[in-house]
Amino acid sequence: MPRGVKKENLPSKICATCEKPFTWRKVWENCWDEVQCCSDRCKNERKRKQQLANREQRAAAVEGLAPDTAAAPAPAVAVQQSPP
Ligand SMILES: [Zn+2]
Repeated sequence: MPRGVKKENLPSKICATCEKPFTWRKVWENCWDEVQCCSDRCKNERKRKQQLANREQRAAAVEGLAPDTAAAPAPAVAVQQSPP
């Protein structure tokens, strides 16, 4: 970031976690393209959410791989023949 850039001309992004706009900071000067969250807190929150989502996806995949247990037909009930 060159010197003398006015504050209102600084680039800004929308936080991926809290969806609030945040403005370029000096700490991000080398990694601004990769920055997605406004704060460490949001970054951690996002990571946590992603892990949760991954876990859910994996659970869903496991369920999809074993349809026999979930979609097994109800056990055939012995047909009771009425006595003659
Ligand atoms: Zn945020």
